[in-house]
Formats: sequence, structure tokens, C-alpha cells
Amino acid sequence: MTTTPSNPPTTVYLVGAGPGDRALITLRAVECLAQANLVLYDYLVNPAILEHAPTSAELVCLGHHSTGRALSPDEIIARVIDGARAGKTVVRLKGGDPSVFGRGADEIEPLREAGIPFEIVPGITAGLAVAAYCEIPVTHHDDASAVALVAGQERQSKEVSGLDYGVLAEFPGTLIFYMGVRKASEWSRALIEHGKPPDTPVAIVQWCSRPRQRAVRCTLGSVVETVEKQSLRPPAVFVVGKVVHRAPPQSWFTARPLFGTRVLLAGSPGMSERIGDRLAALGAACITQPAIRIAEPPEWAPVDAALDGLKRYDWLVFSSANGVDYLFRRLFDRGGDLRRLGHVKLAVVGSGTAERLGKYHLQADLMPERFNAESLATALAAEAKGRRFLLARANRGRQVLAERLKQAGAHVDEIVVYSSMDVEEPGEDVARALSAGEIDWVMVTSPATARSLVRLYGDALRGARLASISPLTSEALNEQGYEAAVEASEHSAAGLVDAI
Ligand code: SAH
Repeated sequence: MTTTPSNPPTTVYLVGAGPGDRALITLRAVECLAQANLVLYDYLVNPAILEHAPTSAELVCLGHHSTGRALSPDEIIARVIDGARAGKTVVRLKGGDPSVFGRGADEIEPLREAGIPFEIVPGITAGLAVAAYCEIPVTHHDDASAVALVAGQERQSKEVSGLDYGVLAEFPGTLIFYMGVRKASEWSRALIEHGKPPDTPVAIVQWCSRPRQRAVRCTLGSVVETVEKQSLRPPAVFVVGKVVHRAPPQSWFTARPLFGTRVLLAGSPGMSERIGDRLAALGAACITQPAIRIAEPPEWAPVDAALDGLKRYDWLVFSSANGVDYLFRRLFDRGGDLRRLGHVKLAVVGSGTAERLGKYHLQADLMPERFNAESLATALAAEAKGRRFLLARANRGRQVLAERLKQAGAHVDEIVVYSSMDVEEPGEDVARALSAGEIDWVMVTSPATARSLVRLYGDALRGARLASISPLTSEALNEQGYEAAVEASEHSAAGLVDAI
């Protein structure tokens, strides 16, 4: 007998989003987000994490009480319950761990009462993330065998503080205060009044694990002064105790070469991803806002005809990684596979394109020493005479390669395998950040990107330094009245990152 699996019950997931870095979430959190129809997230959650939700999911930022956009706890609960009752899978995403100063229990109780099935997914709480990101060992065999997570600010309606500072002052270990910025004077003085030495070391860690992380050292007696002088604002945790001494002045996180550097990635999405991965590993904060959009070619018929007649060609030449993806996707979509390539040789313009071929288990037969069309043409020209070349290209771009090959006596067919278009609307936040000088570098990854960037942002671009991927890109910038601060010597994602 076979049984039909019943639909899984609609569930509410109360999920911890970790301290801020997009990668500091659990696999379970990713699984829950992938099923979500409705995501309600707190302002402390890194929006990059929302990328795990389907594009069809409704995403609701609950704002922060200080911005006046926040929903009341009752309104949040009502939205969660309404969503679940309407058959939606609801993810309630909270910063850190949902049960650490996250009112997780307040939101679960009504679900239990309403009989709505739920699951709680833990997260890395901010106060403990400082151990990794600031190298403050929150426990240490010589200095602290216990840790206490403490509320620096308690629920306003409470008339009497629930915290016994006499006990806290005697606590034999590390105290970690959350929500402690606004009431710094109250909790720090209370500890001192109850006998905690004013010279107890303190680390104040703001935006832990985010590219704008700041860690400031002081003593219990100077907490208030330090918060004011350094203009420290939430979110920050205060680590109080001997263990603070064990942290080096720079942690592995802040010592990375590009820590604190803010970079705008404006190229096509694939290019930006390759650059972004490298930059993030070096500690840079990347903002991705493409100035170029990649889409299907205006017509597939010429591509299909070329794919059907691939055997006729000696060489298939790719001038970008996008070209590789679009051509092969088309081949596979039409039921073909890689055997269709037969004996055709493969040439690529540079390492990024070669890498992309590698994803299809293909190796380039030829890659020029310098990654540009001229070098590729020179490298191919030697054996071009009488040979048949198929060039897979974008709808726009230069004709150098085709012309040179024809001059060298080759038969050349060109197919447009994707379209590259300018993005029409500037990113609002990006325009504001550029004007405010909040972006250090703009990655200019092609002449088309250069022109589109200038059209989108104009003079605001002068607030940042421009990193150009190639001489042609620098030239395009020059023509618009802008100058590249650096130019990559290898015209690739890696070369551009090396340049800055
Ligand atoms: N559930 C969260 C805490 C929510 S209360 C968690 O487990 O981390 C909000 C407080 O958390 C902030 O006032 C601040 O004290 C702390 N916090 C959250 N994210 C932080 C971060 N990235 N860096 C420093 N403190 C943070």
C-alpha cells in the first residue's frame, strides 16, 4: 500500500539571524528562509541574509522604536498569527539568538495558545560573538569560569530594577551587558557602588562582526565618558572583566588589510560576485549596485543555428564569463550536452572566463598573456588563416577581435549570446553614500560600466576613488572627465582587487 505524504503543517519559525555577518547563520536558518512566504525581521538583522528567502516571499522590516516605524509587540504577534492562519510559512527573524533579550518567549506563547505549530532556531548571540571577533576569551581558565549576560536596560514598565547589583558586583566571572549604551551611567555606577573596582577592564564592542565593527577599551569607571567621547551608539555590548586584558589591540578580524574599506561593486552581477568574494575575505565592506544589467539576447535563432552547426568550427571564442553561461545554458535548455562541442577548440579572453569554463568541466585551449581583445587576436592570428571561428559575444562591445581575425584570413561568425544594458535608475542609498563620502572605492569593471556609472551618479563619483580594470576602462573614464586612481595590471577580478 502506498501512502500519500500529507502537506507539512504550516509553521512559524522563530529564527536567530546571528550578530550581523551574513555567513553567521545556521543551515537550519537557511532552510527555514528558503520555505518562507512571509519574513518579519528586526532592524538589527543584516538584510543580506534575506537573500535566502524566495523572491516571492513578502519581507517586512519591523523597524526600530527610535525610527518610529516599529510595530508594537502585539501587532507583530498578530501579523505572525494572521500569516500562519492564511496558510503561509512565516519566518520571524531576530538578531543574535531569538531567546537572548529577544522577547522570543513573548512571541511563542500566543502561538502555543493559538495551536499554531512552531520551531525555534538558535543563533549566535552578539555578546558571545565578541569572543571570536575581538579575541576576548569570555571564559578563561585563569580569569573567568563563568559568564553572565546582563540587560543594561530593563523593560520600561518595570518600577523596580530586577537586577541585584550587589550580586552582580560579586559575580565571579565575565559580565556582558546588552542594550547598555543609553543607561551606561546607571549600570556602571551601580556596579561600582556595590563594590566592583572602578579599574575593572571593559571592552565596548559596536556592530560586532560587521565591517563597521568598533571595539573600544576602557575601565568600569570611565565607561560613561568613553561612550560620550567616542560617540558610541547602539548596537553595542559591554564586556566587563579581567578577560578583556587577554584581547590583542587588533583582532584577526580588524587586522585584515581592507578592514573598514567600503567598496561599491557596479559591474555585472557575475563580475561583482567574483570581486566581492575576494574583497570580503580581505575585510572590505562591499555594496553591490550594478550599473550594468545582463539579459537574454534579442533573438536566439542565430545562436541555435550556430549551436546546431558547431562541428563546422575550429575555434569557439568567449570574451566574457557571461558569454560562457548564456551559450551553455541555451545548449542545455534545448536538450543538448557538451558532446556537441566535438573537437572545437576553446579560446578565452582572460582568467575569469577560463574559470567559468571550468565550471562546465572544460579547459580553455588558449588564453592570452594579457587579458584583452588585442592580445587574444594576436594569439589566435598565428593559426587563423583558413580556419573557422565562432565568437560568442555581447550585443555591444568592440569589433577588434573579429576584424583582426578576418585580416588574418579567418572565416568569422559572431553570435550575440547575451545583452548588456545600462541600468536606468541610480541606487538611492548608493547616491547618498557616494555624496556623503561614505564609499572609498568604486570598482569600474568595463568601459560600459564606466559610462553607465557616470550617467547614474555624475559628480557624486568624485567622492570616491575609482579602480579601473583595464586601460580601455580608464580611457572611458577619462572621456567622461574622470580619472582612475588605480588601474589593474591583470585585467581580471583578482587584478582589480590587487590594485586597491
Ligand atoms: N537577540 C539579540 C539581542 C537583542 S537585544 C542577540 O542575541 O544578540 C539588542 C542588543 O543586542 C543591542 O542593544 C546590543 O547590545 C546587542 N547587539 C546585537 N547585535 C549586536 C552587534 N552586532 N554588535 C554589538 N551588539 C549587538
